[in-house]
This record gives sequence, structure tokens and C-alpha cells, in this order.
Amino acid sequence: MSFEGIIGQDRAVRFLTRAYEKNRVPHALLFTGIPGTGKRTTALALARLLQCQSAKGTVACGICPACKKIDSGNHPDIVFVEPSGSFIKIDQIRTLRNEFALKPFEGNKRVAIITDAHAMNPEAANTFLKILEEPPKGSFMILTAHQVSDLLPTIVSRCQHIAFAPLSSELIAENLVTKRRGDRQIADIAAVWANGSLGMALQADLKKVAEERNRLIEQFETLSLNTMHFLFGFAESLAQDKDNLLYNLEVLKVWIRDLLFGKLCPEKILNKDLMEKIKEISERYSVSSLLKKIKIVQGAQVDAQKGRNRRLILEVMLIRLCRGNY
Ligand SMILES: [Zn+2]
Repeated sequence: MSFEGIIGQDRAVRFLTRAYEKNRVPHALLFTGIPGTGKRTTALALARLLQCQSAKGTVACGICPACKKIDSGNHPDIVFVEPSGSFIKIDQIRTLRNEFALKPFEGNKRVAIITDAHAMNPEAANTFLKILEEPPKGSFMILTAHQVSDLLPTIVSRCQHIAFAPLSSELIAENLVTKRRGDRQIADIAAVWANGSLGMALQADLKKVAEERNRLIEQFETLSLNTMHFLFGFAESLAQDKDNLLYNLEVLKVWIRDLLFGKLCPEKILNKDLMEKIKEISERYSVSSLLKKIKIVQGAQVDAQKGRNRRLILEVMLIRLCRGNY
């Protein structure tokens, strides 16, 4: 296998297979995208193809010594760099530089896969830049990161950039059904929650995700400015669950978006299992008030990402959302 197992990234795969066929794989590649979109899997597939001793077309053979070593995770000419703690530190990049200075142990290529390259601290990034400026012959560096803006522009400009798009919820749900043997209805809920990340959907406790969505929406729909203590309690519970905060806000945003589509084009509703409820509740709101509510949640998502006073951000968001109930 080479790129067959990579889901929903046809553009990236097309680019890489063409580059390989023309023997013009760039020496430095930067894969960006949200976690769980296949960046590292693709990097590994490319490394395997580059090292395979008897690839057929753009498919690594899977049986040569190089393929076998890669599959067991110990090919000496594939170097992995990933954050140790929160950062990729200068020592790790120095080690990479030293390894790249030597001739490859086998064959004639060296591949480095640098996961979460945005975690390089400034010293590490500057040292890495020097490797990029004068890449050793036969070396390939594949960087993954969330977004281009997280990296030094001088690093980005020396890499061929490939964006990994978030996956559609349809594709994620299909994969959950086949890979996790999930129930389609629960898979649909988890796919919406995963918000484009297949990796996250595959790791999730699907049933729990579905239960959590139901609980959130149920509580949200009972909020009112007449029962402020309940509103503040809800804000507090959201704020305390800080690991899931952005996803919980996404659930609320998708819910309001569904109410909007319930009025405009129900076939676009994402929470399909709640179709009837959505159509009914959407009658209570105007299109313009729902559009305003979506903006309010988006604003809270941006503020919450900055990590400042989450509870206040959520309280203000919920009050503004309730005020818009007309
Ligand atoms: Zn092989």
C-alpha cells in the first residue's frame, strides 16, 4: 500500500504521486491541516514509497527489507522528530542535523518526518532553517503543522506547502460505520462533532459523544433570561470542561446552524436524527436572529481559544444568545 489508505485527501495524494512519478518529490514538504486529517499517515506513506526497493508505479511493495523495516518502525534512514513535552527543542534538531550529515545507512535517501513542526522553539526553528537552506543530497523533510501562520515565514517559504482539508461529515460517518462497525445514526452525530477530523472521530467514544450532544442541546434549549441561575450554571459547566470547550461550542454552533437550515433548506441539516425537532424549534426564530446567534458563538470560539476568562466569555455569550430570542 502507498496512498490507498488515505481518506479524503485526493488533491494531496495526486500531487505527491505525480511528483514521485516524475522523480521530483520536493526536498521539503509542509503538510498543514487540523489534527486527524491524515498528514502524518501521508508523510509515512511517502517515506515508505521513497525507501521501497521495488515499488510498482506509485505503490510500495510491502515485502522488501526497506518496507518491512518501516512497517516495524525501525528503518535507520527515516528519522522522526516530534515534540518532547510542549516543544521540539534545539537538541532534537541538532541530532537531526548530525544524522543528516552522515550518508544514509541503506540505499541513498534519508527522510525526516517532523510532526507538529509549529512546536519548534525559536532556537530549534533557526537551526532547522539552516538544514532547510542547504539540504543534504538525497534528503527529504516532511513537516506537519496545524496552519502556515504557526511557523516562521522563512521555513514556510522553503517548503512545498500542501493543505489537508477537513473531511466532510459524510465521509467521516461512512468510515466510522465501516471501521468501528458503528450504528449509522450515532456515526452521523460523532461525525458532526469531530468537525472534519477523522482521527478524532475514530478515537472517540461514539455513544458518549451522542449522549453529550443530546445533553448539551437539551440544556441549551431551556436557557432563558428569566432563570439566570441556570444560565450561569450552564456557563460554568461548559467552562470547567475546558478540554472539550471548543467542541462543545461547535455542537452549539452546528445546532443553531441546523435551526437556520430547518427554515431554509432542511436537506442540509447535519443533526439528521433531530430533523423533526429542528424544524419545529426553528419556527420560533427569524433567519436574521439565527444568523446573529451563529456570529455570537463564533466570536466566543475565537475568544475561548485565546484562553482568557472562559467563564465570563461563556456567560456573555449565553446572555447575548438568549437576548436574541425573538
Ligand atoms: Zn518495498
